[in-house]
Amino acid sequence: MPAGPLEHVDACLFDMDGVLTDTARIHSAAWRETFDAFLAARPEAAGEDHRPFSDDDYAANVDGLPREDGVRNFLASRGVALPEGTPEDGPDAGTVHGLGQRKNALVGRLIDEGGVVVYPGTLALLDVLRDRGTPCAVVSSSANTKRVLTAAGVLDRFSAVVDGSTLQVRGLKGKPAPDTFLAAAADLGVPPDRAAVFEDALAGVEAGRAGAFGLVVGVDRVGHADALREHGADLVVADLQELA
Ligand SMILES: [Mg+2]
Repeated sequence: MPAGPLEHVDACLFDMDGVLTDTARIHSAAWRETFDAFLAARPEAAGEDHRPFSDDDYAANVDGLPREDGVRNFLASRGVALPEGTPEDGPDAGTVHGLGQRKNALVGRLIDEGGVVVYPGTLALLDVLRDRGTPCAVVSSSANTKRVLTAAGVLDRFSAVVDGSTLQVRGLKGKPAPDTFLAAAADLGVPPDRAAVFEDALAGVEAGRAGAFGLVVGVDRVGHADALREHGADLVVADLQELA
């Protein structure tokens, strides 16, 4: 077992997207299909730009944002104005909410089609923790958390899940507030200073620091190790295999 960093850790709290699962790929693919189909079907009006969705769009306009904000940002970047609509709009509605529904339905389909990949290094660490009897939790604001974990075949590895619906039901503040991680540690019956947080987002390591957790591990898949340290990571790894 991990001598070293995890030696005094009695529980492990994992962010999902980017730490456990490579779900950014799914979100990006769903946005691309939604926007490209929308623009292709729309007659080009003056001032509109119908370039296809790009990786730059993903980073600049949609990544990590609430879904409707992503739709608004992307449309604004292409000079396209659509009515807002309402959350009750179906996926065929020509509205901001309608496009959001379309994207969400595609995410669901891609998840169910087996598009979720668990990072092998994370799986290796989960194996080690299971053998060692260390309880683990997932802490994610995603509304699709359990669906993703089930599709990935790892739901049974976690004794607690704090997700988007837990957040609403318990009235918890999202990251960078520490509330969701604290709730997960409490669910596992382990005090924060004996728990480790694993995060790839700056807001996530900030939450770990704010909660005074025993260890905050930054998972750096995009080359922002210094920023992760500045925001609260005690330790930064490129992949959790390094701790397995
Ligand atoms: Mg993440």
